[in-house]
Amino acid sequence: MSKEAYFAGLRFLHSPGPTHVPKAVMDAFSGQPMDMADPRLEPLIEDCEAGLRRVLKTEAAHIFFYAANGHGAWEAVTVNLMAPGQQVLIASTGHFSDYWAEMTEAVGVSVVRTPYREGFPIDPEHVEQALVADKAHAIKAVYIVHTDTASSVTSDVPAIRQAMDRSKHPALLVVDVVATLGAAPFAMDQWGVNVVMGASQKGLMCPPGMAFCAADERAIAQTRATAGKSPRYYWDWIRRLNSAAYLKFCGTPPQNMLMALRAAIQLFEREGHEQVLARHRQLASAVQAAVGVWSTGGVLDFVCQVPAARSVSVTSIAVKGADPDEIRRVVRESYNVSIASGLGPFRGRVFRIGHLGDLSAPMVLGCLAGVEAGLRALAIPIGDGAIEAATRALGSAKL
Ligand SMILES: *Cc1c(COP(=O)(O)O)cnc(C)c1O
Repeated sequence: MSKEAYFAGLRFLHSPGPTHVPKAVMDAFSGQPMDMADPRLEPLIEDCEAGLRRVLKTEAAHIFFYAANGHGAWEAVTVNLMAPGQQVLIASTGHFSDYWAEMTEAVGVSVVRTPYREGFPIDPEHVEQALVADKAHAIKAVYIVHTDTASSVTSDVPAIRQAMDRSKHPALLVVDVVATLGAAPFAMDQWGVNVVMGASQKGLMCPPGMAFCAADERAIAQTRATAGKSPRYYWDWIRRLNSAAYLKFCGTPPQNMLMALRAAIQLFEREGHEQVLARHRQLASAVQAAVGVWSTGGVLDFVCQVPAARSVSVTSIAVKGADPDEIRRVVRESYNVSIASGLGPFRGRVFRIGHLGDLSAPMVLGCLAGVEAGLRALAIPIGDGAIEAATRALGSAKL
């Protein structure tokens, strides 16, 4: 057995996923599985579907749960909506849009990308131009990552929908809400989003292991139109449009994940939908206030160059002239705070603070103070008063 050192007290988990799981959710997760004919099984699934529809703000979208992570749901979107040889327009947001594009191409679907600008959100005009240029309507869907978790930049989904409408192009709008659902405002029906995909382990406060897609009637019609052209079985939405649990999940449902999700949605509703969003805005304002002060030292800076586009879920911090991975190591090993690394093109030049899910103000202050202690231990210049600025931001936020 490995002899692992013991750290007294809590380890603060501030990755942007997996996030801290509330005790009520862990307790629900530890329930005994049921036999497949247990009359409690179908109500459990229905509660999760109906609850997720409320969180997504959709009346009637079909919900498909998978025992998978977000990457599984990414692939599910493409093999359902698209046939090999068709095109998808993927708005470039950086690491996560690149990854989604790579998976899309791997299943034989071609990808058109909009120009990428590090630190900036998607420019809706780029989407409009790409659609206007596609006179033959070869593009069948536009994929948008709501918040790219690597850059911590959030794009404006309603503005992108309006740009698509101006182009009069019929492509479906598909949005990745893995990093935003349960943290940032989202309204599937009102925003005209045809398909949403997400995963359990970020704003939804569950352990990793379950993903979902939500699809409206236009998306289901497009899926029917690709039947027989796109090889799929396990992911197939048409096959899963069935009330029997075994068919709906193409096998045994991930029952404990569903128990956890139902408990998480109950917490979400006990706190109140709008209150959850307000709390995320408040906590993000504290982190941003601290980073604003740290950046006066000249080494740290926001990756996101547009203040209004800074994510409520995660903050990516660029590091010049110091090693972000050493900062993370010191912060974790000496101060018991777990923060995340730079991903993809940001590897070795960014660290990230997650601030989504089941978090309170003192948890975020504890995280910021732990990070600041690590930065001071490494003698990195960070100005003065970051923690006080964070505290003031907490006090002045509207809750
Ligand atoms: C985390 C994340 C994913 C991938 O989810 P996994 O569960 O790790 O596969 C996809 N998109 C975004 C925006 C994410 O933050």
